[in-house]
Amino acid sequence: MSPSTQPTVLPQSLPPQPVPDADTQGFWAATASGTLAMCHCTDPTCGLWMMPPLDACRKCAAPTRFDEVSGAGTIYTFIIQRQAAVSGYLDNLPYVVGIIELDEQRGLRLPGRILDIAPEDVVCDMRVQATLESLPGGDYVVPVFRKQ
Ligand SMILES: [Zn+2]
Repeated sequence: MSPSTQPTVLPQSLPPQPVPDADTQGFWAATASGTLAMCHCTDPTCGLWMMPPLDACRKCAAPTRFDEVSGAGTIYTFIIQRQAAVSGYLDNLPYVVGIIELDEQRGLRLPGRILDIAPEDVVCDMRVQATLESLPGGDYVVPVFRKQ
């Protein structure tokens, strides 16, 4: 195929891609299989959820694993992005990025875009639910949130 017949995909039109490491690989493997999972202490008497993930519990040092979470939670805080700053979202202004406190544990927070709501209607403590969506430009699936 000659260069002139290849499809034109501008690099700046695609969002940044995750770069999994030893600590986050379990998260990305779960989302790829359609499950939202967070790092969880395997000791049932502790059961601490952790974000960012760790290979050992920060409270009791037991091993951790990724366990499914409900994806339900409340908006802890958020920003309204009004200026083009991140490739892949340049044509989608304004948009909302939130930090969501998941119902599983106080302080267990996950960032994500908040979709299908006018930015001016987003408020802290609003109930939201995660769904998983493909991230354009690669094979990753990411959580996004919508009002419950
Ligand atoms: Zn623990």
